[in-house]
Amino acid sequence: MNILYIIAMQAEAQPFIEHYGVEEVNNFFYPLPCKLYRTTITNNNGKESVLNVVLNGQQHGSDLVGCEAASVATLAAIERIHPDIVINSGTCGAFLENGASIAKVYIGNGCMFHDRRVPGDDQWGTQALGNYPVWDKASQLAQELKMPMGKVTTGSSLDMQPCDLSIIKENKGELKDMEGAAVAFVCSLLNTPILFVKSVTDLCDSGAETFEEFSKNLALASQALKKANTRVIDYLTNID
Ligand code: SAH
Repeated sequence: MNILYIIAMQAEAQPFIEHYGVEEVNNFFYPLPCKLYRTTITNNNGKESVLNVVLNGQQHGSDLVGCEAASVATLAAIERIHPDIVINSGTCGAFLENGASIAKVYIGNGCMFHDRRVPGDDQWGTQALGNYPVWDKASQLAQELKMPMGKVTTGSSLDMQPCDLSIIKENKGELKDMEGAAVAFVCSLLNTPILFVKSVTDLCDSGAETFEEFSKNLALASQALKKANTRVIDYLTNID
């Protein structure tokens, strides 16, 4: 199996990178800023899989978060790597009222945009929200690994405006991030299955300031993400 992770921030990927000892393939995406780390994994029956970890890279001295960078990285990576599956992994905000807690790791059961408000007929509305499909075996994986599932909703901001919240609520969104639906959009164009693995850094309805909560919990959530991803990889590399 050829597995492609798309991860926005180095801090989210670092525990994972260290765990697998994946090595950077220098200049793989030159002149794009995306970075590739790659290694080979051998499963219990001696079958080999390739693990590719792609980071969006940096601009202006900070990691490129958000939809544009995620789309560029996903398109460039799928065209060069031809993965069997794309996994978008990273941190997210979630809701106490849905039973979320810090560093809880979810598998996505759907994804959409929550900040694209486009008037017009149903087709424009449908395009704006996205609602891209996720890998058809995602719920089987979640069930076998006993991981909770939730709907990913993506926007271009870390904060949440009242209009974002009302779209999230109307559409039963649970995991608020800044890349998921953009990665899924590219996957939908290129017919590549997508799986989401998301760890909670902040609780959107806790009343806390999001950036402070995010910064305080980033390391803990990234450790939890590594743990969950090793289980996901064990699962994927041991199915036919
Ligand atoms: N200035 C921050 C930048 C992080 S932006 C820093 O210093 O690190 C937040 C990143 O975490 C994005 O990649 C996004 O996908 C994810 N994220 C975590 N919590 C989020 C939330 N509540 N809303 C949107 N994105 C969130």
